[in-house]
Amino acid sequence: MPTRSERIAKTESLFRNVNERIAEASERFDAGDNGEAEFMCECDDAACTERLELPLDEYEHLREDATTFVLDPDHVNPEIEKIVRQGRGYAIVKKVDAAAARIVRQLDPRADPA
Ligand SMILES: [Zn+2]
Repeated sequence: MPTRSERIAKTESLFRNVNERIAEASERFDAGDNGEAEFMCECDDAACTERLELPLDEYEHLREDATTFVLDPDHVNPEIEKIVRQGRGYAIVKKVDAAAARIVRQLDPRADPA
């Protein structure tokens, strides 16, 4: 049985996969004039439909670390993550829960295949 933090990490990784598609599409077809795109909130609520306006640069930067995610600041779950940076209408968080961090690393779509 997956633990609670493993379940949370899997949900957040699904949103991360969606955002990877959004980033790819935005890079191909020009983001808005301001270089921003609309990403999904990567929180642990599978039903969350919150959209976050985020500069593509900021998105690219946060994806360099497999354990950082972008969330609505109100959706941060301090049980497993802490805010490392805050922007206008969004928060960049890092997984502090060891089990959650392990799962999100395993599921990182940008990880080098072992
Ligand atoms: Zn959310």
